[in-house]
Amino acid sequence: LSPVPSDIEISRAQTPKAVDVLAKEIGLLADEIEIYGKSKAKVRLSLLERLKDQADGKYVLVAGITPTPLGEGKSTVTIGLVQALTAHLNVNSFACLRQPSQGPTFGVKGGAAGGGYAQVIPMEEFNLHLTGDIHAITAANNLLAAAIDTRILHENTQTDKALYNRLVPLVNGVREFSKIQLARLKKLGINKTDPSTLTEEEMSKFARLNIDPSTITWQRVLDTNDRFLRKITIGQANTEKGCSRQFLLDCVQLGVRARSGNRKAQEYFAESIRSPAFIAGRFAICCGQALMEGCKLILCLLLTWWLIHAQFDIAVASEIMAVLALTDGLTDMKERLGRMVVASDKNGQPITAEDLGVTGALTVLMKDAIKPNLMQTLEGTPVFVHAGPFANIAHGNSSVLADKIALKLVGEEGFVVTEAGFGADIGMEKFFNIKCRASGLVPNVVVLVATVRALKMHGGGPSVTAGVPLKKEYTEENIQLVADGCCNLQKQIQIAQLFGVPVVVALNVFKTDTRAEIDLVCELAKRAGAFDAVPCHHWSIGGKGSVDLAWAVREAASKRSRFQFLYDVQPPSCAAVPVEVGMAKGVSEAQMETRFSGDTACFPGPVFTLSGEHSILRTDLPDKAWSLYLLCGC
Ligand code: ADP
Repeated sequence: LSPVPSDIEISRAQTPKAVDVLAKEIGLLADEIEIYGKSKAKVRLSLLERLKDQADGKYVLVAGITPTPLGEGKSTVTIGLVQALTAHLNVNSFACLRQPSQGPTFGVKGGAAGGGYAQVIPMEEFNLHLTGDIHAITAANNLLAAAIDTRILHENTQTDKALYNRLVPLVNGVREFSKIQLARLKKLGINKTDPSTLTEEEMSKFARLNIDPSTITWQRVLDTNDRFLRKITIGQANTEKGCSRQFLLDCVQLGVRARSGNRKAQEYFAESIRSPAFIAGRFAICCGQALMEGCKLILCLLLTWWLIHAQFDIAVASEIMAVLALTDGLTDMKERLGRMVVASDKNGQPITAEDLGVTGALTVLMKDAIKPNLMQTLEGTPVFVHAGPFANIAHGNSSVLADKIALKLVGEEGFVVTEAGFGADIGMEKFFNIKCRASGLVPNVVVLVATVRALKMHGGGPSVTAGVPLKKEYTEENIQLVADGCCNLQKQIQIAQLFGVPVVVALNVFKTDTRAEIDLVCELAKRAGAFDAVPCHHWSIGGKGSVDLAWAVREAASKRSRFQFLYDVQPPSCAAVPVEVGMAKGVSEAQMETRFSGDTACFPGPVFTLSGEHSILRTDLPDKAWSLYLLCGC
C-alpha cells in the first residue's frame, strides 16, 4: 500500500500461518517442537543430533554502519533479505534475531520486529514476553543474588558446625555430600567423601566461603527501565539488618580502602557490616576518621559514591543472558553457569555460582529458555528469535544454538541470516571475535546496512532525535553531506574485509533519498572494496524489494570464505594485563602489546573493537596480521 501503513497496522493485517504448519514446512518433526499459542514454538535441541550429518547452509551476518538514534534498519534488512531469498528466489532461508528487551521496547527505540513490509509477526508476541526466556533469566539471576546475600547472612550468624549441618543436612538419618559439594571439597584439597569424617578445621573450611561483601559484582535484574532501582539498599528487615548492603557503609569501607590500601582496614569495616551491635559505634569511628581526614575522605566518598552499592540491572544485560547466547547445549550451559564469578573471598579468591551450590538450580530454571523460539516473517518464512545480550556489556548477538539449528535446517544450499546489534564496530566485531570463536561457525558474507540519512549525519549533518521531525538536510538532496559521511561506511567495509569476509552493502532506501544520493553511496561503497552495493526497497514493498540484494548475497556466498581471526586467545607473554586499547592516549608503540589478550581478559568489557573509541587499527605489522595494540596498565 502507498503510503505504507504503520508497522503495527501491517503486522495486524496479516494472519500468520499456524506454527505447526510452518514447522512441518521447514522439516521439523512433530516431537521436535513445543507449541506456545498459535504462532510460536520452541524447538528441541535433539534436532541437532538428528541432523548432525547434514551439511550447514551459508552463514550471513547483517551489521550496520555506526547507528543514529533513528535506527538504520538492520532488522528490517535481515527480514527483507530472507523474504527475498525464500519467497522470490526459492532458496531455503532462516532469519535469526535477538529477542528484544522490554526496556528499549517501551523506551525511545521501540520494538525490534523490523518494519514496513519486512517484519516478524505477530509483532506484539515478538516484542513482549515471547515464550518467557527473559523471565527465566531474571529468575535464575535473582536466585543467585539471593544465594549470595543469604550465604553471607548465615556465615555471619551461625557457628561452623551449624553451617555445616545446614549445608549437608540429614536425610533419613544419613548425611551425604552432593556432587557439587564433593567437587568443592576436592578444590579445597579435602579428599573425603564421608561427611562424618571431616575434622572441625575441614568443616569450617568447607562451610565458609568468607565472601567479601565489598567485592560482590552480581546484581539483581529486572527487564524494566526502572531508574529508581539503579542504587538500592538491601537487607532492611530486622532479621537481615546486620547484612544490609548499605550504600553509606560500603562507601566508607571503600573510602578507607582507597585512602590507606590497608587490608586490615577493609576487614575492620567489613566486620562492621557483619555485627549489627557494633555498626553504630564503628560507623561513628568512621565518621571520626572522616572528620580527621577532612576533605581527603570526603573526596573518597564522593568518588566511590556511585561505585559500590546494591543495584538492579536490566535482565538482558546480565551474564546469564550472555551465557544463553553463547552456549551450545545443556551440559555446556551448566558449566558456563557454574563458572560465573560473583564476588571474591577475603583472600581475594574468586567465588563462583558453583561455590554457592546453585548451578543445578540455575540450569533447571533455564532448561526451556535454551530452546530457540520459532516464528515467521510477514511472507511466512521461518525466523528464530533467541537470546538478546546487550552489545555494550556483552556481545550483542542472538544465540549460537539458533544459528546452528537453522544452518542444519536450511541445508547446504540454504542461507541463515543473523543480525548483529549496534554498529559494525561493536556488533560485527563481537560476532567474529566472540560468537564465531565460541561456535566454530564460519561466516560467508557480511551485509552492511547503510542509510542516506545516517551517512548525512556522519558527514556533519545536524543531530537527529527519534520522534522529532527531520531537518531539511535530511529531507532534501545534499550530495556533499552524503559524500563526507561515506568515510564511516568505507571504514566498516575495510574492517569486515580484514576478517576475510566479502561485504555486500545494503542501502536501505527511504522515500526522501534521491537517485543521485543512492548512486553515490553505491559507487563509493564499491570503490572501498565492497563486493557489491545495492539499494533495497523491502520496507515499502516487502521481499521483492530486496531481490537484488538476495542475488548479490548469493553471488558473494558462492566464493570460498577466507574468514580468519585477527588475534588468538592465548594471553600475551608479557606479564602486564592489557586493559585498554589505543594510541589515542599518547603511549608509544614500545609500551604496547602486539597481540590482543583475548575474550577472557576483556569480556564483558566494551573496549575491544577495531575502530571504537579506545582502539586503534595497525596496518603495518610485520606478520601481516591486523593486530590490535593494547595499552598496558593505563
Ligand atoms: P535497527 O535494527 O537498525 O535498529 P530497524 O530495522 O528496527 O532498525 O528499523 C528501525 C525503524 O525504522 C523501524 O520502525 C522501521 O519501520 C523504520 N524503517 C526501517 N527502514 C525504513 C525505510 N526504508 N523507510 C521508512 N522507515 C524505515
